[in-house]
Amino acid sequence: MKSIFLTSVLLLGTGAVFAQSPPASEGSAAAPKPVPPIKSLDLSAIDKNVDPCVDFYQYACGNWIKDNPVPADQVVWARSFSQLRERDQYLLWNDLDAAAKDPKTSLEKQYGDFYAACMDTATIEKDGTEPIEPAWNKIAGLESASQLADLMSWLENHGTPDGFFEFGVGQDEKDSTKQIAQLYQGGLSLPDRDYYLNSSAHYETIRKEYVAHVTKMFTLAGDTPEEAAKEAAAVMQIETAMAKASMSRTELRDPTKQYHIMTVAQLDQLAPSFGWTTYFRQSGIRPFETLNVGTPDFFKALNLLLTSEPVDSWKSYLRWHVLHGQAQDLPKAFFDENFAFFEHTLAGRKEPQPRWKMCTSKTDEALGEAVGQDWVKQNFPPAAKDSTEKLVTALEKSLGDDIKTLPWMSAATKQAAQEKLDMIRRKIGYPDKWRDYSSVKVSREAWIENLHHSAVYERDYNFNKLGKPVDEKEWAMTPPTVNAYYDPSFNDINFPAGILQPPFFDFKTDPALNYGGIGMVIGHEMTHGFDDEGSQFDGHGNLRDWWTPADHKAFAAKTECVANEYSGFEAAPAQGSTPAAYLNGKLTLGENTADNGGLRIAYMALEATLAGEGKSMDQKTDGYTEAQRYFLGFAQVWCENETSAIARQSVLVDPHSPGRWRVTGTVQNFDAFGKAFGCRKGQPMYPVQSCRVW
Ligand SMILES: [Zn+2]
Repeated sequence: MKSIFLTSVLLLGTGAVFAQSPPASEGSAAAPKPVPPIKSLDLSAIDKNVDPCVDFYQYACGNWIKDNPVPADQVVWARSFSQLRERDQYLLWNDLDAAAKDPKTSLEKQYGDFYAACMDTATIEKDGTEPIEPAWNKIAGLESASQLADLMSWLENHGTPDGFFEFGVGQDEKDSTKQIAQLYQGGLSLPDRDYYLNSSAHYETIRKEYVAHVTKMFTLAGDTPEEAAKEAAAVMQIETAMAKASMSRTELRDPTKQYHIMTVAQLDQLAPSFGWTTYFRQSGIRPFETLNVGTPDFFKALNLLLTSEPVDSWKSYLRWHVLHGQAQDLPKAFFDENFAFFEHTLAGRKEPQPRWKMCTSKTDEALGEAVGQDWVKQNFPPAAKDSTEKLVTALEKSLGDDIKTLPWMSAATKQAAQEKLDMIRRKIGYPDKWRDYSSVKVSREAWIENLHHSAVYERDYNFNKLGKPVDEKEWAMTPPTVNAYYDPSFNDINFPAGILQPPFFDFKTDPALNYGGIGMVIGHEMTHGFDDEGSQFDGHGNLRDWWTPADHKAFAAKTECVANEYSGFEAAPAQGSTPAAYLNGKLTLGENTADNGGLRIAYMALEATLAGEGKSMDQKTDGYTEAQRYFLGFAQVWCENETSAIARQSVLVDPHSPGRWRVTGTVQNFDAFGKAFGCRKGQPMYPVQSCRVW
């Protein structure tokens, strides 16, 4: 699915290689420490007591896993992603800290002040809930549900989080040259609809704890315990009804199910209890006649709720969303209570991260293309961009060769696939043109107001796209981000400078490790254009079927093999009366397909590169052949530990498989692995039957 809000594209699984959002929290005043570059291959991480043909992940990562438990302020600790994120974040903090102390330019003054306001906990403490009280006062004045449209546009015009639904501008999925208004489900506070609906004892307990948490937050805000309990019950009732009407994350992977162009008059008929015309007009978006209503059933249900729930319940719901949406930015009591439930209970984080990390993340989120300018100057030389270009070209050629030799695909579809591949655009490192944030008002003394100004800027930036030509050069990730993505409507692959660093990519290391690291990531993003979701879009980024019916059928059978394979992988072991959780093979299908394709085509590109240099895959370094080093470099990207709570949460919300299964799930589908390590056919990593899509 191509969501209207690009950040949610990643959370909903269209293409990011790793979408664990950077955790944000308050925490201790631990001073930032430099993080050295991370090695592409760490021989001491290997557990030689394990047979690589039996469990390659354990072989490649065993010692690292044993020696690197999850730090108290993290929920996932990955050898590459987490450590590189720490490093990139530290380098970014250097810039922010210097700008906060002694800004040299107006840009530095802006992001330095933003960062400093976030760090100023004394002022945040002194201001208390004052910065959110105008929103609460406005909510208190609500007299009937018919005034909700007016109230919500007021809240959004003031940059205040409000729940309910998601509205914005995005590309028309059937005509990617057009930018249209779009409306999607939303309004939940827990991480997924299943948290409200799953009847197991585990989730019943979580729901009780959630209601207790909402109650506690309201009492911290000054309500009596009785009032707070009543409000929390109303919040739970409304959110549960919204969850029931929401599409599941697996359903959301099907873009055709979310394409419902209608007129505003038709939307009024679908959900007449909400004043859509008022809401759109007051939001300041240019007038429009038609829009895409991504999730019509949600809005039908919302309409019924608007009439069935008393107005006091809506006030409680909105008050909650204003409070919850800004809990991390309020005084410590709110921060701590929010941490205790959302970070500790739900994710297993033991202690908050140091505040400088949260403030660095939040500044990057709000002003990323301002802070990123200095960051790339220091950390991403032009030569790195050139080398990445060459790698991408090599990977494109491999995918083309792979398509040519696919035994199951007809010549007609192969040609169409090659055409789509030829049209994939690439963006490497950072934008050619930086976004202009000069209209974002930043004060050194008003943290929450800064966030409000930033939210309004982002919303207006998005609204301003309506009816305008698409900006193909726009980025959905900031330069220091350790991630990558494919966007089906743009048909482009995007690699921020933040991931084009060791251990993914290192000038000083051999091609086997670079292809196993960043090469596989590039191949992964390209393959997203051809996974169960991306394959529904053509090279122009339009939702259009370019497959013959027979190839469709064959493709469905191939992807089903992958879905079944991963559904058999245990993600979290049984705990007491809570049964083990297994991966959802359908939710993770796109990512797993991309991993399998990426591993194969990066390997092919390495073979071609070495052949071009007259070198063999069998030559050895440190006792391992080039082929073995490729697989080791790949596997060590994914060495990780995680809390059991986040393992369980990820099964429901994360379209990516955990590191263990990203490694064993892919190598067991790729015969080159078994051959490289001299495995016997029939061993776990070299099975007789395996799955292959691309
Ligand atoms: Zn991906």
